[in-house]
Amino acid sequence: MKALVYTANEEMTYREEPEPTVQPGDSLVAIEAVGICGSDMHAYLGHDERRVPPLILGHEARGNRYRRSG
Ligand SMILES: [Zn+2]
Repeated sequence: MKALVYTANEEMTYREEPEPTVQPGDSLVAIEAVGICGSDMHAYLGHDERRVPPLILGHEARGNRYRRSG
């Protein structure tokens, strides 16, 4: 899958990433759009020590269920 990845402070890279694995009871969602909020900007600027690159940001997502396990 393609993803916009936070790869370093103030650096994003659009690249191929492995398909996520699905555990029993999980759903895999095909993301269509993601909002960018203040916490994403903190990470991008290197102000959040909990978010270490490489990391796919964007936790405010909209999509359709792609696959469901179990
Ligand atoms: Zn947020």
